[in-house]
Amino acid sequence: MTNDKLGICPKCGCDGCYITPINETKNNYFCWGCGFQTNDLMKEGEFDFEAYEETLPELYKDVRDIDEQGRVWYPISLNIPDRGTVFLNGKTSEDTFWSAIKVIPLTEEEKQEPKYKGLTFKSDPKSLQSFGKDFIEACDYIGLF
Ligand SMILES: [Zn+2]
Repeated sequence: MTNDKLGICPKCGCDGCYITPINETKNNYFCWGCGFQTNDLMKEGEFDFEAYEETLPELYKDVRDIDEQGRVWYPISLNIPDRGTVFLNGKTSEDTFWSAIKVIPLTEEEKQEPKYKGLTFKSDPKSLQSFGKDFIEACDYIGLF
C-alpha cells in the first residue's frame, strides 16, 4: 500500500481513505478512519444491492450509509487467512464496535478433519477482542500492518 492513494473520505471526512481506480472514471473507496467501503458503481438504481446483501450480516445492512454522491457504504470485513478477521460487531445498529479475532495453526489431527480440509489455521475464540470505534486498532491487533 502506498500513501499517495490516500485521500479524503467522502463519508467521514478523514484523510485516511484508500482510493483506488476500478477503471478510468470509477473508484473504489476503503476508509481506514471509519472502517467503511464503497465504490462508484454502488449507487441506488445502478447496482444490484439485493444480490450483494445476501452475503452480509444483518448488522451490516442496518448500518449502511449513503453519501452525497449517492454511493452506498458498508462496513469493512477483513478476513486474512493466516492472521485473522476484523468485523463490525454489536447487537443493534445504534451500538456497534469493531472486533477482531486471531487465528491459530491447526494441529496435525485437526488437519485430517473434513471441516478443515485444505486449511492451515482456524479462528481462536479466546483471542476475540473489541476495539470500540477504532477500526485501525482492530486491524493492528491481527497484525495487518
Ligand atoms: Zn471514512
